[in-house]
Amino acid sequence: MSPKIIDGKAAAARVLAEVKSQVQAMETEGITPALAVVLVGQDPASQVYVRNKVLRAEECGIRSLEHKLPAETDESALLALIAQLNADRDVHGILVQLPLPGHIDETRVLQAIDPLKDVDGFHAENVGGLSQGRDVLTPCTPAGCLRLLHDTCGDLAGLHAVVIGRSNIVGKPMAALLLKAHCTVTVVHSRSANLKELCRQADIVVAAVGRPRLVDADWLKPGAVVIDVGINRISEGERSRLVGDVDFDSALPTVSAITPVPGGVGPMTIAFLMKNTLTAARLQQPASVTFAEHPEAACPSIS
Ligand code: NAD
Repeated sequence: MSPKIIDGKAAAARVLAEVKSQVQAMETEGITPALAVVLVGQDPASQVYVRNKVLRAEECGIRSLEHKLPAETDESALLALIAQLNADRDVHGILVQLPLPGHIDETRVLQAIDPLKDVDGFHAENVGGLSQGRDVLTPCTPAGCLRLLHDTCGDLAGLHAVVIGRSNIVGKPMAALLLKAHCTVTVVHSRSANLKELCRQADIVVAAVGRPRLVDADWLKPGAVVIDVGINRISEGERSRLVGDVDFDSALPTVSAITPVPGGVGPMTIAFLMKNTLTAARLQQPASVTFAEHPEAACPSIS
């Protein structure tokens, strides 16, 4: 069978359509989910990310509130804004765009966000909950990868997944989600020995490294499913373009399915941010409302 190129744009459009219809249902209860996006400084890439998040939110009917602060904002002023957003019952999700300027302690800021409004899933309470296998607000990129894997493979139980990279944003939560989905999980990283051999044993490879085209056909078992999280800008003559951590052309004849870069994982990240905002809005309703009563709010749904 010819390999499947996993269409992240189409999958993201389906997630966004689900979110939009659930936002409309919440509107009938008098609740409009709202996402506050905080940007400190003028980093051009961060400005683009924030603009895209605000646009997607509007498309889904989620109210977005932008807080743009100057680069020289001090930590106490940022913490005061977060405290204000935590207390605001009309704000359901808080996203602080990373990276923050060097004089601000990123961990202290992320820990200041109410865990129920932590739509990035970076608060230690959500990180701990995920590692315990509980339904919590989960980092958007790995949650999006898991959805692509479920869409492609169905039940993941018993499959061997190798995650390349151990960052707090992608690698570690990805490993936790795959464990929760009953995979056998191996995490490899910059200090791992026998990387290639370990990868070659995998039914699923998730590459989250930040090294252009590190993984080629030689790293892959025939029929493996490959999720390429990497986004690397490379120069080709006068021009530059984006490539993943996987050498797509080399891998394609060997795999059964693979995400392209761009157009694979990227669109899912933002779609899951919207899904997390909806989930956060649900979780902040009266105590009787739980993931169990609103399975559509569980992120992501795993059988
Ligand atoms: P990071 O730099 O925080 O972590 C990279 C990880 O890769 C580390 O754990 C490191 O040990 C490992 N690593 C580095 N070199 C290695 C090597 N030669 N062999 C094996 N492991 C190695 O990066 P991150 O934030 O996890 O992001 C990884 C990539 O994913 C980047 O390209 C980033 O741009 C991309 N990314 C994409 C999305 C998206 O929405 N598609 C979201 C987040 C990150």
